[in-house]
Amino acid sequence: MSSQTKTFTQWQQQANALHIEGRAYIDGQYQDSTDGATFADISPIDGRLLAAIADCDLTTVDNAVAVAGRAFATGVWRDKSPAERKNVLLRLADLVALHQEELALLESLDTGKTIHESLDMDIQDVGKTLRYYAEAIDKISGEIAPTGDDFHGMITYAPLGVVAVMTPWNNPLMIACWKIAPALAMGNSVVFKPSEKAPLTGIRLAELTRQAGIPDGVFNVVTGGAQVGQALALHPGVRAVAFTGSTQVAKQLLIYAGQSNMKRTYLEGGGKNAHIIFADTPDLARAARFAALGFCANQGAVCASGTRLLVQSSIKDAFVAHLIEEVKRWTPGHPLDPSTMMGPLIDAQHQANVLRFVDSARDEGASILCGGYADDRVVPGGHFLPPTLIDNATSTMTASQNEIFGPVASIITFEDEEEAIRLANDSEYGLTAGFWTPDIAKVHRIARRLEAGTVWVNHFLTRDILSPFGGFKQSGMGRDLSIHALRQYGEMKATWIALKDIDAH
Ligand code: NAD
Repeated sequence: MSSQTKTFTQWQQQANALHIEGRAYIDGQYQDSTDGATFADISPIDGRLLAAIADCDLTTVDNAVAVAGRAFATGVWRDKSPAERKNVLLRLADLVALHQEELALLESLDTGKTIHESLDMDIQDVGKTLRYYAEAIDKISGEIAPTGDDFHGMITYAPLGVVAVMTPWNNPLMIACWKIAPALAMGNSVVFKPSEKAPLTGIRLAELTRQAGIPDGVFNVVTGGAQVGQALALHPGVRAVAFTGSTQVAKQLLIYAGQSNMKRTYLEGGGKNAHIIFADTPDLARAARFAALGFCANQGAVCASGTRLLVQSSIKDAFVAHLIEEVKRWTPGHPLDPSTMMGPLIDAQHQANVLRFVDSARDEGASILCGGYADDRVVPGGHFLPPTLIDNATSTMTASQNEIFGPVASIITFEDEEEAIRLANDSEYGLTAGFWTPDIAKVHRIARRLEAGTVWVNHFLTRDILSPFGGFKQSGMGRDLSIHALRQYGEMKATWIALKDIDAH
């Protein structure tokens, strides 16, 4: 099933017919916050009210953690064999596939991302992630330590207990499942707090986990904003926080962990990533196509975006000419139209923030090549912004140093390899970086020196479950995806068994 097999009208009709659940999910049941409070979930597409969402109070959060802790203590999930947990998670992946259109529509309505991205990318990624960790869990073994004949030494991984998963609004279900899938596969209980700006698919997933056979209490969803996240991060019953969001909140979570029970914290933060176009790039048109994708995909709300375009000065004019043509493909439109490549920004406040960065670039001496203005006529009630290129930028400008999280890129020129590397690393972040060259020695030279968790050579923005994803520097700590992420959801344990009578000494 692809987004292209239905028309815009069909997607709209299907969206209008959706039943939208807005309650939290605790102990196998949807329920309101104990104080009955709710908040409004507004669609960024047209400003319409999607649902009243439970605004969980502290009692509700406590209850969810207690339920998850009890489910862990009884062993109802933890003590299932890995093969049994695998089968349940595979059933969950099947249910996600069965409900993929509904989940994709919920995601598009909630975030403004295009139906193409929601269905053909994010929801497919959710299924793939669930299957990967389901299949991994009955194929990895512990280790035997090289102890000699006196002992048998085992190295195993024990589940942590209650894992709190907290996520942002840009790829809500996909990023959540990068954490939920390995956490559940390892036998943990999960309390999931989706972003208050995009809670719908997380709430819907809960019902699917029940249908798949995940026992009551093992997977719970608490909805709300920063106060719910803070309550989880400070909670003594939570053993780990798996977070994706801003670096600012990630740092706060480190403080909460220190103030409470030293819970494990796996933190994926922001990015301000360099995309380097060297003069020896053989196909500038192709590089420009990836450059446009690199800062326009998902309206620029991608942590891995290539928003610092470092261009060797001798080819700048030629490259920019291609780029201007490429960004025209990203003209904003209605997200439920399958031909649309760019939807609205998440809300009016975010649009204003993005525009403030564009203004700062103008004020600091840069020029705006294209975009740089609000376009709220695309769909009345939505907050759109066309692709925006900041030209004649420098690395120290406000817009070059800060994550904007909108479709805005700065073009910065450089003269040689050393300068390109210096500029690429001139950031407090270190999530991704990319560059173009056919020179194999240069590929290795540069890849080694870039301070980034992911480096792309001769392409940009590729990612897959088979390789870890996470950042250097203030882009975070810990990794999502791949087998490496799985280990984070278990505590390494060394067990020494004496094989003969050993004397104390
Ligand atoms: P955010 O940090 O504002 O919110 C993320 C989550 O934290 C939300 O669920 C929010 O309710 C919660 N939260 C907010 N304040 C909190 C507090 N004081 N205590 C506990 N929880 C709190 O981020 P956002 O605006 O939703 O998302 C955008 C950010 O996410 C960007 O910085 C982007 O780069 C980052 N991001 C990173 C990655 C990655 O893999 N590194 C991926 C996607 C997004």
